[in-house]
Amino acid sequence: MPATIVLGTQWGDEGKGKAVDYLADGMDFVVRYQGGNNAGHTVIAEGRLLKLQLIPSGILYPHITPVIADGVVVDPRHLLRELDELRRTGVDVSRLRLSGNCHLIMPYHLELEKVTQRFLGRNALGTTKRGIGPAYADKAARIGLRVQDLFDQKIFREKLEIVLREKNAILTKLYGRLPLDGDEIVEEYMDLAGSLEPYVADTSTLLHGALRDGKSVMLEGAQGTLLDLDKGTYPFVTSSNPVAGYALASAGFGPKEVQRVVGIVKAYVTRVGAGPFPTEELGEDGERLGVRGQEFGTVTGRKRRCGWLDAALLRYASRVNGLTELFLTKLDVLSGFERVPICTGYRVEGKQFDDFPPHQSLFHKAEPIYEELDGWMEEVDEAKTFEDLPKAAREYVRRIEELADVPVSVVSVGPAREQSLPAG
Ligand code: GDP
Repeated sequence: MPATIVLGTQWGDEGKGKAVDYLADGMDFVVRYQGGNNAGHTVIAEGRLLKLQLIPSGILYPHITPVIADGVVVDPRHLLRELDELRRTGVDVSRLRLSGNCHLIMPYHLELEKVTQRFLGRNALGTTKRGIGPAYADKAARIGLRVQDLFDQKIFREKLEIVLREKNAILTKLYGRLPLDGDEIVEEYMDLAGSLEPYVADTSTLLHGALRDGKSVMLEGAQGTLLDLDKGTYPFVTSSNPVAGYALASAGFGPKEVQRVVGIVKAYVTRVGAGPFPTEELGEDGERLGVRGQEFGTVTGRKRRCGWLDAALLRYASRVNGLTELFLTKLDVLSGFERVPICTGYRVEGKQFDDFPPHQSLFHKAEPIYEELDGWMEEVDEAKTFEDLPKAAREYVRRIEELADVPVSVVSVGPAREQSLPAG
């Protein structure tokens, strides 16, 4: 069976949790491929509200093996807490598989992120301060510690000593903080190792075998395309690669296995923290989108900036990910607007761009060119089929398909699993 990649097409918070949960139904394996415990998927399953940050939501289905692949950075303390919480709600967590190649988030990553973000002052990125960026930085610098190192105390201690020498020098000499104690870290992490061991596996071989045996595998991205380290609005991005290509590097199999690439797109756009956002609505409409859409961060509680759908960015997301279909979320939030604008391109210093401008400075100055569509007054959250939607809402969906040149397969009109309307 072929693999499916599911990812966000905007700046994250597209409702991926709900979409992934819906799509997971027919899957045997669900794989997280990047990011860390900064993702914050919200899932409502059988009336239970669950906030998962690291573990794939596939854990809720007894027939699914959830996998955390190589490209994810793992805070073992957080992972064990999340497992405990799931266990307490009665979920069987024993199927979780964690790659031994995942890099570990260490106590100094959290400490360093706190002080460096403070040091940057108003230029700080507004990260989640979970040590994720610093862990990826160490991975690239080849000084990271990995999950597999937990099971060789001698190696773990050796690697830690080398890293800690530099980290403690930075913490004490540059930031005036106290040094971290290596023995304490070894003791804590060795303690955690025992609890993690049952979950650790060679996930690349596992997934390869699964595909060979005709199982279906879904690769689930966190954050979104415009937060991608390479393809997003750098430097206002995350420290990993949510794009489809990276899903394969992380999971450890090749592109010929992938048949579907599903882009999750919210019916409007939100963005957390700093960075360019051409369709941002600073007035009443933006406020209304935020209130109706409950646009507050799952992990940080921060209010999100809101604006209209940007089809130029959606086309870009489609191109860089090779999207084969769209899962449109939160259409219900748009009820009650007389007109619903869609951005089709930009004007920058008198020049027109139909696509995402190639230079950051241009994007910062981009003014949206809007096409205005009729809105609809009716609430749509009780619609059972696509045809139940008001004509204007259906036309909005069809126009998105045309502008993105990708078909919309499902329209979501509420947070529950049942509020998903096949639109194909
Ligand atoms: P994620 O990280 O991409 O899952 O995004 P969020 O953290 O923003 O979660 C999306 C929020 O919207 C959650 O509270 C969901 O339950 C909710 N949600 C998902 N789909 C829909 C939808 O179609 N309509 C509404 N009103 N809410 C939705």
